[in-house]
This record gives sequence, structure tokens and C-alpha cells, in this order.
Amino acid sequence: MNDAFGREINYLRLSITDLCNLRCQYCMPAGGIRKMAHEDILTLEELEEMVGAFAALGITKVRITGGEPLARKGIITLIEKINSYVGITDIALTTNGTLLNAMAQDLKNAGLKRVNISLDSLDDKKYAMMTRGGKLKDALKGIEKARKVGLNPIKLNVVLVGGFNDDEVERFVKLTQDEEIDVRFIELMPIGEVAKWSLNHFLSNDYVLETVPHLQKSKNTEYSSPAVYYKLPRAKGRVGLISPISCKFCSTCNRVRLTSEGKLKHCLHSNQEFDLRTVLREGGSLTDFIQNAMLHKPLEHFIEEGSLTERNMIQVGG
Ligand code: SAM
Ligand code: SF4
Repeated sequence: MNDAFGREINYLRLSITDLCNLRCQYCMPAGGIRKMAHEDILTLEELEEMVGAFAALGITKVRITGGEPLARKGIITLIEKINSYVGITDIALTTNGTLLNAMAQDLKNAGLKRVNISLDSLDDKKYAMMTRGGKLKDALKGIEKARKVGLNPIKLNVVLVGGFNDDEVERFVKLTQDEEIDVRFIELMPIGEVAKWSLNHFLSNDYVLETVPHLQKSKNTEYSSPAVYYKLPRAKGRVGLISPISCKFCSTCNRVRLTSEGKLKHCLHSNQEFDLRTVLREGGSLTDFIQNAMLHKPLEHFIEEGSLTERNMIQVGG
């Protein structure tokens, strides 16, 4: 499936819940978010049908996200179903990892290929502070289990927050020396709550290269990955820099998003949404609607000029 600018769209980011067992400060307001009415959320069967329509149109890769996707009941069955669609060759998951220890084997058996795990600190107290109560050891156990059951490659996502984890950059980078793991630093985006934060918290990813100057640029093997990769000399793993603010990757964008309430979003940073849930529930043609919507995918975003989504990240599906 192509958009109006000839970009091939083959990657769906599927948010299956806007609920989470953590409360990361940059993602959610302290009081949580307003709970959506049960009937507003897509059922598992509806999620399956949506993915079926996207698969029929040429989507080959699905990343399941949220909220915390492992907190949604039925995720194993959903992955089994997605795995059964001809054409879907890659199913990945973005998770905070805290529930992964108990679920990793079932996820692998269901057809999940790999996981990205969000981990913003290697210090118990700081982790608990940023996640408002999360336990670092649960996330570490999840990472270990994912590795054991073969959910490879494992990628750790670290949101770089000035005054919080800028002093841990070297420690995170060192993890890649002896382990086959990718550590990816993500620039903090001024979305939702974070739009009100002081500028000191926003660091460009150049900070990572200044802090660890012996990182060497490495070849990126994944087409249209937003990360630019580096390596320590003789390291097993890689260090990725994802820089949506200082460097955008719109020209090779191959993705669309579906929120847990069935809204199709072309871009994380746009408020434009297409109501697929209504089409589905009223018996319309999902494939026709999606194909038509694809022609409206914008060429690029303008976050550096202040054009931002009005939703919190947890509602969009990061
Ligand atoms: N709960 C899962 C997790 O934490 O990985 C999946 C959903 S979470 C919204 C997806 C990703 O968005 C996480 O890696 C999180 O760190 C990132 N994220 C959330 N808010 C962000 C922000 N304001 N700027 C940059 N990344 C953000
Ligand atoms: Fe939950 Fe992930 Fe948002 Fe943290 S970043 S509050 S783990 S959805």
C-alpha cells in the first residue's frame, strides 16, 4: 500500500490498551488518564479484524504497544491470530517489561518475534521515581526471561531526560559491550504532560556522542528504522540514537498507527484521525476506507515548529 507521496506503508503500530501498570512521569499525568468506556475500546475480535484488513493491504510488520500491552487480557490469543495472517512476517512488542517474566514463553510460542523494553534508569530509586512506583528488578527479570526464550534481538529504549538519567548514559552504553543488546536513546518529546516541562529536561542526542566520544558509527541494517546506530569498539551490541526532535525521519516513514479505540493515525505528531471503529461496527469496507485514508498521510511533521498532538503518549500508543 502506498501513500500519496509514493512511500510504501507496510508497518502497523497497534495500540491494544491505553491502561498501564506504571505511571511514567513523561507519559501520564500523576492522577492517571480518564478511563475510556469499555465499549469504546476495540474488542479482541475487532483488533483481529482490523489487522486482517491491514494485512490484506500489504502490512507485513505489526508492533503491539499501548499503554502497557501486557496488561491487556487476551494478548496471547491476539498474537496467535495475527501470526496466522499470510503476509505478516514480523510481530514485535513494546513493553515496560515488568510483566514479561511470567509471559515471555507464551508470547514466544504465540508467534512474537522480538521485544523493545523501556528502561530509563538502572538505579532502583530513580526507576521507582520516574515510573511512580515501578520496581526495577521486575523489568530486569523480564529482560532476562525475554533473552532466555529467544525474543531476539532485545532493544532497550531509554528516554533521555536532563537532570534525571543524563548521568547514566555511560552505564547504559557499557551494557552493549559484552551483551548482544541494542540500547537506544530517545529524545524526550514535548507531548501531553511534557509540553509543560522546563527546557532543562530536553537534551539532544548529541549529548550521548559528547559523553561517549569513542562510539563509532555503525551500518544500519534495518530499512526506515528511525535509529542511527553506533558501536563501542569490539562491542557485541549497538547504541541507537532516535532523534525525532533534532533530526526527523519523515521521508522514509513506512508506518501508520491504530489506537485502542480504533482511530487510524498517520503520524504520532498529528491530530488527524480516521475513525475505523465506526466503519467496522457499521459494516463498511475497512480496506476501502484505509486505502482512501492513506492518501491523506502528511509528507512530514512540524514538531520543531510547535505542531503537536494534543494527546498524551499513552493514548496515542508510543
Ligand atoms: N508501556 C510500553 C512501554 O513503556 O514501552 C509501551 C507504550 S509507551 C507509550 C512507548 C514508548 O513511548 C516508551 O518507550 C516510552 O518511553 C515512550 N514515551 C512515552 N512518552 C514519551 C515522550 N514524551 N517522549 C519520548 N518518548 C516517550
Ligand atoms: Fe506506561 Fe509505557 Fe507510558 Fe510508562 S511509558 S506510563 S510504562 S505506557
